[in-house]
Amino acid sequence: MTDTRSTTLPPESIRITTDSWTEPFWLAAKDERLVAPRCGSCGTFRFPPTPFCPACRSQDTDWVPVSGGSVFSYSIVRGLPGNRDAVLVPVVVEFADAPGVHVVSNLVDADPADVEIGRAVTLDFVVIADDWKLPVFRLADLAAER
Ligand SMILES: [Zn+2]
Repeated sequence: MTDTRSTTLPPESIRITTDSWTEPFWLAAKDERLVAPRCGSCGTFRFPPTPFCPACRSQDTDWVPVSGGSVFSYSIVRGLPGNRDAVLVPVVVEFADAPGVHVVSNLVDADPADVEIGRAVTLDFVVIADDWKLPVFRLADLAAER
């Protein structure tokens, strides 16, 4: 039997590096919270994190929780080296409460036929190398969207 639901790369093979501008994101993920940097001066979100605000050049940063994710874009990848039956759905998620924030991750446990731009997603986390956690997304219940 073939499992056609989407997954991630083998979690133990996913490694991250952090620096002072990205570590708050990963530390929050370890606590299963999704946060994004918002300029402490003008309120513009900047993601991925950058040292300077593109709007006002301030370095003041507030890390704020984001929610209300939906599919902005996605792709479907069938087959990985060593696992020809694997299905990945790389996804770009946007957030109703964080304009301009686009998080690239995986949509997991989804039937690729159900994925559509605009579909609501829920947040989940997968433990990866070195006990970090990777934010991933699942399709929200269709019933919950209506
Ligand atoms: Zn700013």
